[in-house]
Amino acid sequence: MGEKKMIKKQFAVIGLGRFGSSVCKELYKLGHQVLAIDSKEEKVNDMTRHSTHSAIANGTDEKALQSLGIRNFDYVIVAIGDDIQSSILCTLLLKEFGVANVWVKAQNYYHERVLEKIGADRIVHPEQDMGIRIAQHLTSEKIVDYIELSADYSIVELIATDKVANKSLIDLDVRAKYGCTILGIKRGEDINIAPTPTDQIEKGDILIVIGHKNDLKRFEDEGM
Ligand code: ADP
Repeated sequence: MGEKKMIKKQFAVIGLGRFGSSVCKELYKLGHQVLAIDSKEEKVNDMTRHSTHSAIANGTDEKALQSLGIRNFDYVIVAIGDDIQSSILCTLLLKEFGVANVWVKAQNYYHERVLEKIGADRIVHPEQDMGIRIAQHLTSEKIVDYIELSADYSIVELIATDKVANKSLIDLDVRAKYGCTILGIKRGEDINIAPTPTDQIEKGDILIVIGHKNDLKRFEDEGM
């Protein structure tokens, strides 16, 4: 049979507050299989239209997690809010079950340290991350978006000013002058993800640039 099957990843989201429900809705919208879990019935009911399956269950109840077949999921997102103890216990159970990718929302630094120790695969801080992004937007008119890759490296989207308009990537020579790399150029709905050295930039284009934060800042201040 020559039929190609799309390999879909299986996701489960435990805790359907603002963060967990946004993750769940988006994954479902993207066509993935998502199991939505919360201990509160009304939270689960709100998510039935936005998930493949949903269940009222406590994320710290080993038997309940087992009966939901949680070990078969590729990714489990623990989005339990303020109840740090439950978040930790749930993460521990998931790692003991052998779930390969457990992503957990951390409330604070100590929570994060415990999560690291018990083997959480990725720890997220949505409030801080969003705070950083918003501060970047507020402080620069040129930055339209910002993704932090590590403490030192980021990807920024910069709006092309008059200074770079009608110049080619060779003219700008961003890598030699600033140590950053232009990954792509957005123009309206179009996006050029493999820009060539002779591609011209127009005013209003959005440049997607990766680099060290200091280099990106220099490019933004001096090169744009
Ligand atoms: P957010 O900041 O993302 O809105 P909340 O604290 O409002 O976070 O939401 C956390 C969600 O997690 C709530 O819907 C709550 O019912 C759920 N929750 C809390 N503890 C558990 C648990 N042990 N098992 C399953 N769900 C839980």
